[in-house]
Amino acid sequence: MSARLAPLPMTTIVTTDLIGITRGRSFPSDELEHYQAAGCGWVPANSALTPQDIIASSNPWGAYGDLRLIPDLSSRVIVGNGPDAAAPALDFIHGDIRETDGRPWGACPRTLLRDEIERYRDALGVQVNAAFEHEFNLHAGFAEHLAFTLEAQRQGAEFGGWLLSALRAGGVEPEMFLPEYGKHQYEITCRPTLGVAAADRAVNVREITREIARQMGLDLSFAPKTAADAVCNGVHLHVSLLDLGGQPLLYDAGTSNGLSTLGQHWAAGVLHYLPALCAFTAPTPVSYERLQPHHWSASYACLGQQNREAALRICPTVSLGNKSVAAQYNLEFRAMDATASPHLAMAALLIAGRLGIEQRLALNAITDEIPDSLNDEQRAARGIVALPASLTLALDCLRRSEALSAALPAALLETYFALKTEELALTEQLSPADLCEHYARLY
Ligand code: GLU
Ligand code: MG
Repeated sequence: MSARLAPLPMTTIVTTDLIGITRGRSFPSDELEHYQAAGCGWVPANSALTPQDIIASSNPWGAYGDLRLIPDLSSRVIVGNGPDAAAPALDFIHGDIRETDGRPWGACPRTLLRDEIERYRDALGVQVNAAFEHEFNLHAGFAEHLAFTLEAQRQGAEFGGWLLSALRAGGVEPEMFLPEYGKHQYEITCRPTLGVAAADRAVNVREITREIARQMGLDLSFAPKTAADAVCNGVHLHVSLLDLGGQPLLYDAGTSNGLSTLGQHWAAGVLHYLPALCAFTAPTPVSYERLQPHHWSASYACLGQQNREAALRICPTVSLGNKSVAAQYNLEFRAMDATASPHLAMAALLIAGRLGIEQRLALNAITDEIPDSLNDEQRAARGIVALPASLTLALDCLRRSEALSAALPAALLETYFALKTEELALTEQLSPADLCEHYARLY
């Protein structure tokens, strides 16, 4: 008589693609060694998938070509059984997409970010420390809660407790689980980490959060706006720059807002290229339902200190408890949502900041007022421009931005324009309310 079968533990090599969706292939975990050096197969046209699951017709790859997904073993995430005791462990490894002979593949967002992190180190002597904050909607069948309340915490307590436990097990260093302003809206934050691992961690947060919701049978969405009357879900990217010895570089106690000269050039670069950057950081039609004035997101390219309407915010630091201000000092990029690829969006943001440093751009677009309360002359005097009002306009800004385009691999840009053009055509008939519902199901 043969022994009763048990499910084999599986490990998945994943890539999080240009539209921020995590895909991959699984094998029996005890065969990892076999996949270590040459990874598993992958298909170029997969990168041209739209969120609607249709491969863009005009993509550069068509039916041709073969690639490898090479696991980066240092990025492995293993989370044991959660609320559903019968659910198999979540076990995945982030991979880089390469040609079959090992050369990097031009349209891999993780490779793009890795290259940019190396450029910061080699050309600027700078390390990047970053953390992504995520807001999301959790529909658990319970009554709507009031904003920020203990009641909301208690309604989400079982989910939140499992989530914190799973994130910790997965090496994500969770910080806080909190009820947000919106109905059924929560936020999860984690500690910053260096380099590519920061974007991997954003993916880990999304996938582990989804896993806990799946195991508990709850509906969850990270989409920027899940209904016409919903409070928006943002993704805020906190960035600090360090020298190669780990000393903070953004802070200078001698300036009025604490931003060092290097930090000013970096911020000026981000703001200068922001209208084009939006094509990557606010990359779906529904992103522009969020990027509007009075949404505490961003609608103008400006820096603010205590201003949640600014696209780039100098985060508050505390001097309580003798904490070092320089070590806490960071810039928060707010014009982002979870329809963006963390790797691609972070890479594009870093490229813009580096161009600002290399071009020694001056930082004028600063305001602690609500930017749309300034008049046109006041905004023009400070170089504060409005962000694009739609994905179509953001893509036009990207096409026109020679410096940003030149810094991105042609294969990646071509694929990206193809899939975004297809996505726009697939969604053009949807009303704003329908767009919200459509993307709430996809993200
Ligand atoms: N929900 C806001 C957004 O869409 C952010 C609110 C906050 O500052 O936490 O970005
Ligand atoms: Mg928040």
